[in-house]
Amino acid sequence: MPKKSVDSKGSADTSAVLHRDLSCDFLPLAEGKGNDLMLEDGRRIFDGSGGAAVGCIGWGNERVARAVSKQIMAIPYCSTIFYTTKAQEELCRFLVDSTHGNMGRAYIVNSGSEAMEAAVKLARQYFLELSPSQNRRTRFISRRQSYHGITLGALAVGGHEFRRAKFEPLLMKNVSRVSPCNSFRGKKAGETDKEYVARLAKELDDEFQAVGPETVCAFVAEPVVGAALGCVPAVPGYFKAVQAVCRKYGALLILDEVMCGMGRTGTLHAWEQEGVVPDIQTIGKALGGGYQPVAGVLASRRVIDVLEKGSSAFVHGHTYQGHPAGCAAALEVQRIIKEEKLLANVQAMGALLSKGLRERLAAHPNVGDIRGRGLFWGIEFVADKKTLSPFPVGDHVGLAICELGLTQKYGINVYPGGGSVDGIQGDHIIISPAFNVRSDEVEWIVDTVGRLVDDFFAKQA
Ligand code: PLP
Repeated sequence: MPKKSVDSKGSADTSAVLHRDLSCDFLPLAEGKGNDLMLEDGRRIFDGSGGAAVGCIGWGNERVARAVSKQIMAIPYCSTIFYTTKAQEELCRFLVDSTHGNMGRAYIVNSGSEAMEAAVKLARQYFLELSPSQNRRTRFISRRQSYHGITLGALAVGGHEFRRAKFEPLLMKNVSRVSPCNSFRGKKAGETDKEYVARLAKELDDEFQAVGPETVCAFVAEPVVGAALGCVPAVPGYFKAVQAVCRKYGALLILDEVMCGMGRTGTLHAWEQEGVVPDIQTIGKALGGGYQPVAGVLASRRVIDVLEKGSSAFVHGHTYQGHPAGCAAALEVQRIIKEEKLLANVQAMGALLSKGLRERLAAHPNVGDIRGRGLFWGIEFVADKKTLSPFPVGDHVGLAICELGLTQKYGINVYPGGGSVDGIQGDHIIISPAFNVRSDEVEWIVDTVGRLVDDFFAKQA
């Protein structure tokens, strides 16, 4: 969050909002056009991360605005006890069809956290309806250094120590965690990908055994870890191996694609690149591209069949679930992604971005790792390139780099993350521009981030 040092003339009274950080000045945002954010004082900032990897078609898209407005004029709200809307049905049909028959139904909510809450409850309800012998399944296994949302259930599933710390006594205790698949920090010297995968799969298997395999509902993971680690994809074969462990014990695989899904990594679903299909999947950010708060859960045929043959009802409901304006926005955003062939652009521009970032920054003494997929790239910083030791947590290096980026000299928005968890996670920044980013913009991002990183560490020296 920008501190008072960020060079912009704040004009808004910011004293009534319970902001994320009450000691910060916030930049008054006036409008967005394409990939540019305009502040109220007229200053322009290039949005190099789509906010929190949300923006995917840029800002100010009139087609989406018209679709949302048309929906609001037709019917802005739908009480889903008795009604549905064409927008909700069409969006869910699009989502289910996009999985080539693997998913059975979709459930639309308003945020990634709500989607994760629903996913957890759906997994539990699946086992209750599968057979009375399965009602001991109340546990979840997730991974350390993970983030699955901020509400109590989602926070309990995740392993983000800082965000959990103050609320630990309130969080459900039926979650245990194993190591993430993070080759930069977790792979041993000389270990092959195959050996690393086998070690992680064994760790998961051991965890099932430790807690009692008959008590586990699901293993939960992000295919490409976003906010918690900074765009870390798993090594090849990892997801097949952990799914095999889940299958061995009859547990479900829940993949959280809130940040990495809906095209961000170059395929509509990140699992398409892993050779697995999850039993339950959550989606969010790039679903509606920021035009409305909209997220969702996709449930596989396996889960839906049990519900359809069982109670025929998911015991979960929000006042604003399936919100017509959210569905209309998401539908139009997804139509644009398809019509403008933006997934191909994510792949092409992603290749350009990764090559550019590596050429420009890989040798930098404070750059430890550059990794990602599609238009989802993370740069992890190290205090010492030889030992790869991270910076002290209190230095907030990732955040400070992003704040410097917002100043006039650079004018770029990148997304911060990091702070040590279990003592091994370093600071990172995320670069995740809109899916329609152009090659000249990618070149500008590489040059600007390069200057930003050079200048930031030169000042520290
Ligand atoms: N899951 C992942 C992987 C996320 O990155 C996030 C948010 O950053 C969430 C869940 C929670 O989503 P939301 O902030 O929309 O509640």
